[in-house]
Amino acid sequence: MKNTIPQKILIVGGGTAGWMAAALLQAVWAKLGVQISLIESPDVPIIGVGEGSTPLLRRFFSILNISEEEWMPACNATYKAGIRFAGWSSHAGYEQYFHPFFSAVDRPAVQVFFNDCDQRRNAGSAHIHPDNYFLAAQLANNQLSPVAITSEQAPSLEYGYHFDSGLLGAFLRKHVVGLGLTHIADHVVQVKQAEDGSIASICSQANGELQADLYIDCTGFSGLLITQALGEKALPFKENLFNDSAMAVQTPLPENVAIPSETLSAALSAGWAWKIPLANRFGNGYVYSSAFISRDKAEQEFRDYLGIGGQDVAIKHLNMPVGRIQNHWKKNCLAIGLSQGFIEPLEATALMTTQATIENFINCIHHVSQVTDAVKDRFNFHVNQMIEGIRDYIVSHYCVNSRTDTDYWSACREDTKRSTELEELLGAWDKGSSLIELLMKQGARQNYYPESWYCLLAGNGRFKNAMSVAPVVPVAPVLPFVPRAPTYAAENFNHLKHHFTDHRKYLARIYGRVL
Ligand SMILES: Cc1cc2nc3c(=O)[nH]c(=O)nc-3n(C[C@H](O)[C@H](O)[C@H](O)COP(=O)(O)OP(=O)(O)OC[C@H]3O[C@@H](n4cnc5c(N)ncnc54)[C@H](O)[C@@H]3O)c2cc1C
Repeated sequence: MKNTIPQKILIVGGGTAGWMAAALLQAVWAKLGVQISLIESPDVPIIGVGEGSTPLLRRFFSILNISEEEWMPACNATYKAGIRFAGWSSHAGYEQYFHPFFSAVDRPAVQVFFNDCDQRRNAGSAHIHPDNYFLAAQLANNQLSPVAITSEQAPSLEYGYHFDSGLLGAFLRKHVVGLGLTHIADHVVQVKQAEDGSIASICSQANGELQADLYIDCTGFSGLLITQALGEKALPFKENLFNDSAMAVQTPLPENVAIPSETLSAALSAGWAWKIPLANRFGNGYVYSSAFISRDKAEQEFRDYLGIGGQDVAIKHLNMPVGRIQNHWKKNCLAIGLSQGFIEPLEATALMTTQATIENFINCIHHVSQVTDAVKDRFNFHVNQMIEGIRDYIVSHYCVNSRTDTDYWSACREDTKRSTELEELLGAWDKGSSLIELLMKQGARQNYYPESWYCLLAGNGRFKNAMSVAPVVPVAPVLPFVPRAPTYAAENFNHLKHHFTDHRKYLARIYGRVL
């Protein structure tokens, strides 16, 4: 076995991050004789939110060799073609837009979209809207599955998932414990350090002292190992992102109605609300800034928005520290999940960051001949680049909003701190100069394709002479975007729609039962 691979790994924490780390490490290293254990406290609950993914989760299950037929029904999972943003712009014709996951089938559309946007940025006056170009937007508009039913000549689309986060953790636990991982239900009371500052052992209530070569901190926001024991400081993003609170509630999914294949992100007075369709219910949440609205007022607004004002439904409230640590891999400790940082869930990127960090760690270990401080520095640099790139994309949603109805939206537009790279990007877009060249120059820091940047900027109507209308107060359910004239996407959709079926019906095939 390669001598850089740790022989004994102890994962502390059994939330989604802990079980994802356990599953990936087990898949890659258990066959080499690496002993992996996971300890989770019976007294500290998991955060219990986090129900949307990006397409990267497909690779996770493919590495584990687990089919959709196996895991999706166990987690009440559905398909996600992208995210619909509603009410973020007050420019006429841009009341909403869809941010799709891009696929090979979109390549011709992308080129046309870029050209049309570039013309409009420079001189034109045509109405350019991303939903007029991409197949996924049309599939979501029609509540179709983004997975094709026929295999021959059917286009293969990228897609993500929605799932019950508690059930996903339980599914992964059963999977990895079945493959031999040691699972300890016990509370960690102390982290003992060696003279050099590394972790010497972990003391637990019932199982005493536990030792390993590598300790993985998956203890969530508490950062029991990396922050509390090793003293890694949080670097807050509160100047970039004002939202620091959230609330969540489940609502019923009526039987026999279509299941959307999209996440809805609707702007409210001091933040935004998510609506995530699972196979058996909706997950809803309001992410907001406590500096602009009180908890009670936010809850009332959220209840009204969902139409559950008078109902006796309990809403779960959460604090949301937004930021990151500097060293995700420090001494013999690796932080994964909320313990390494968190950016608000606007693009559902947390589990993607979790997965990417674990995969990068495994790759790094496989490619170096010795684990030195320089190796750790390089690893930490890349993880930080990834996190900051995601942060910039999220921040830009707030910078380009054009709502004027509340102080919150004005502050988000005018007062959010922007990185130099983000300033350059917005400047280049506004000036009409090449965004693609700039994105290439920014290189590794960029996690988002140019397509995503164009969708965000065009979808918010950030064009010269865009006409403003009264701010839109979104209502649930938000009606899908209806193109005004035959469009590229509509033609493409008409040509390809026979490959796709109703999302609920497609799920029934995967679930092996009527839904
Ligand atoms: C409002 C909100 C919405 C979100 N939406 C999304 C989304 O749509 N998509 C997405 O990808 N992510 C989302 N996330 C992030 C996502 O929820 C988390 O990344 C994910 O759940 C992983 O959490 P975790 O495992 O790091 O921490 P947790 O779930 O908090 O788990 C912590 C674990 O540590 C254990 N622990 C703590 N202390 C001890 C101790 N002393 N001894 C032993 N064990 C201990 C606990 O028992 C628990 O098992 C969202 C987050 C928030 C706040």
